[in-house]
Parts: sequence; structure tokens; C-alpha cells
Amino acid sequence: SYDESMKIRKENLTPALLTYYKKPVMIHQGYMQWLFDTDGKRYLDMFGGIVTVSVGHCHLKVTESARDQLGKLWHTTNIYLHPTIHEYAEKLAATLPGNLKVVYFTNSGSEANDLAVLMARMYTGVFDIVSLRNAYHGASPYLMGLTAMSSWRFNVPTGFGIHQSMNADPYRGPWGGENCRDSPSQVVGRPCDCGNGECKAGINYAEQLEDVLRFSMPKEKIGALFVESIQGVGGAVQFPKNFVKRAFDAVRARGGICIADEVQTGFGRTGDHFWGFQNHGVIPDIVSMAKGIGNGFPLAAVVTTPEIAQSMGNALHFNTYGGNPLACAVGSSVLDVIEEEKIQAHCAELGPYFILELRKLMDEFDIVGDVRGKGLMIGVELVKNRETKEALQADKVNAIWEEIKDSGILVGKGGFYGSVLRIKPPMCITKEDADFTVAVMRQAFKNHS
Ligand code: PMP
Repeated sequence: SYDESMKIRKENLTPALLTYYKKPVMIHQGYMQWLFDTDGKRYLDMFGGIVTVSVGHCHLKVTESARDQLGKLWHTTNIYLHPTIHEYAEKLAATLPGNLKVVYFTNSGSEANDLAVLMARMYTGVFDIVSLRNAYHGASPYLMGLTAMSSWRFNVPTGFGIHQSMNADPYRGPWGGENCRDSPSQVVGRPCDCGNGECKAGINYAEQLEDVLRFSMPKEKIGALFVESIQGVGGAVQFPKNFVKRAFDAVRARGGICIADEVQTGFGRTGDHFWGFQNHGVIPDIVSMAKGIGNGFPLAAVVTTPEIAQSMGNALHFNTYGGNPLACAVGSSVLDVIEEEKIQAHCAELGPYFILELRKLMDEFDIVGDVRGKGLMIGVELVKNRETKEALQADKVNAIWEEIKDSGILVGKGGFYGSVLRIKPPMCITKEDADFTVAVMRQAFKNHS
């Protein structure tokens, strides 16, 4: 029963688990964008298990390929060959630009980023790694230092040699370049006063990064910079046009390599491109991916160039489950579904519509400070005061969020102040689902304004 489960959760599961809602929802079944709780209540899943269910819960084709593989072979470890890993590695590498073609499979985003840190250090011989403030790159002791949000860090020394550089959020950052923020997102309906030239905010932020690298780093050289093309846990933070490009230049000028964390933004979610970094006109040296790659199945990967991969060639790096037949079969069919169902194009079409409909709420309610994002990676920032951008009080955010849930929609919460409602659904949602979400949010905002 529900009560027994709550008791077990309290007694037998770690208190470090994050559990959503005053009365947690007990889900037992899902299909595509829908989830069902044990009382039979249906929810529209606008959070996709934290941006993980990419093509839909229990998608028939993906489920079928898992079932098929399950009957053939689950596991070998990489000491033997098996066909699925080769077929899948080739197919996955083909989605990436440039010379990014060597794949290393892991089981989670944290493992992928741990490996990316190791690769960067092996390749450059430099220990120091940089991330941006409000980033989330994982939860291992290594990565807690890169994950630059205090709520995700324990008060123990973590991540030696890891540095957080700066807050590059145009909404809350030091330059408040609201207009400029849309440049990389190409979201319709909002002008960018930077024209087609280089965005001023982009230059300012890049200069700040230069300063940080120049004055705050212990050495001239750095190993690597980690960037999410849109910060996910940080609250759908989009960087100004050309910031990422200039940041990559600054890092490479110091001998470092550039790592794109595509754990949330990959696999077509941002719409115009398959990979989030492509929106910034850059090609990273390492790409880490997880979540949507397996539609909820534990699967992740690091993809890099042959040169960087070679630096790992003089030792063994072992991951028992990485690239197991079952995960590869699932990953492979996820790629097929994204292509067959034209999922990226769907994100490109539905995303701007959804964002514009949500932006209408900014005109209706003062508490809606900002609506931003790209494709189906969207954030709605709730504020107490539009001018000062002071975040809405936690109890009010929670009341709104609970009401949205009670009305049958699950959305996430995030951002530095926990004041951003995060909409990152399975990418199969329809225009009607978007309209329903806007209507439910409108009512919730009305009731709590
Ligand atoms: N990178 C990003 C951008 C993420 O959002 C997350 C998870 N929220 C991770 C890495 C870590 O992934 P995992 O939880 O699978 O270890």
C-alpha cells in the first residue's frame, strides 16, 4: 500500500533521495507522455523522469527491441564481442559532427562525465577543470565540484582541481541581457537588439570568463571546460549568442579542451539541431550524453576524437555494464524512433509555439518573470518582483507546483532559487498537451497571484 511504501522509504531508503511533492506520487505505469498512479489517476508527464524519457514511456518499438534482446543475450562485458555494441556505436557516432567518432559506453551521466574529466586530464596533462556556475554535471565525488549548485553538494571537500568560473545566466547574471538571451535560442516573438552581429552580452560574458581564467586559475593552462548548451538543473539557462564560441576559444588558447554535456540537451530536444552545442556553432572535443539516449534505460556515453581517445589507450578503463547488449539494443531503437517519427522536427515546430503560448502568461501575471528555452526544454521563472527579479517565495512556488500536479500535470522545479518550473516532456507530446499545460498553469497562477 501507499502507507507501507512511505514507511519503507523512510526506513530502508537513503534520506538523500529527492522526493517530489508533499504527498509523493506513486507511479506504477506509463505509456508515451502519460503516467498513471496506483489510484488510477492519469498525469501528463511534462518532466519525462528528469528529461530522460525521450520518445515516450514504454514506446512500443523500443520496448519490443528490449524484449527481443532480452530473449537473446543480456550481458557479456566487453571482454567478448557482440553485434549490438558495434552496430550501435557506429550509428551513434554518425549523429555527431567533425571528428567525434570514438565512443565509450557507460551507464549514467555521472559516469560519462567522470570519464570525460579523466580523458581531459590524460590528454592535456593538466589537472584543472572548469565549469560554469549553476551547472549540473553529476553526483560523483569528482563531479560534485563541477556541479556548481550548493543544494547538490555536501559540506565535504570535493573535486580537487575543479573550478567554477562564473554565472553566465543572462536573466540573473551581472549583465541582465534579456534581449540577447534569445539570440542563441532563435525563439520567435522576441527581438534581439544585437542584430545579426555579435551579441554584446556574449562579449561581456566571454570577457568575464577570460578574466576568471587569467586571474583565478592556479596555472596558465587549463585542462577542460564543461558546458551544458542550455543549463538544465540550473533552470533552463540559455547563454547569449557567441558566448560559448568565445569561451571555447579562450579555453583552447590555454591548451584546454572543450566538453559539451549533452545529457539533457541531446537527441533532438532543442529542435533545430540534433545536439544542443550545434545551436552555438561549436564542435566540442568531447561530448557526454545520457538520459534521453536510452529513453529511461540506464545507458550513457562519451564520444570523442581519435586523438583524445588515444590518450586512454595505454591503460585499461573498465566498466562492467557499459555497452551491454540490452542497453545498446535500446539505444539503437531510440535512434531509429527519433528518425522515423521525425522527433527533432517535431521539437522544432512545437517548441516555439509552446514557448510563445507560455509567454502570454507573462502578460497576464506579474509572477511570471521569464519564459525561456528551446525546443522542448523550457523554463518558466516565477518571481516576486519583475524588476528586481527576486525569486518567488518557496512556499508560493510550491503551492503553484502542487496545484499543477493536482490538475494532472507533472512538471519539474529547478534553478538556483528553485523558482523555475521545468517543462521537458517526452518529445512525443502534442499541441493539445502543450495547450492543456498552458491552461493548467494559467489557472494555477490565477489562484496564487
Ligand atoms: N549532466 C547533466 C546536464 C545532468 O542534468 C545530469 C543529471 N541531472 C547529469 C549530468 C548526471 O547524470 P546521472 O544522474 O545519470 O548521473
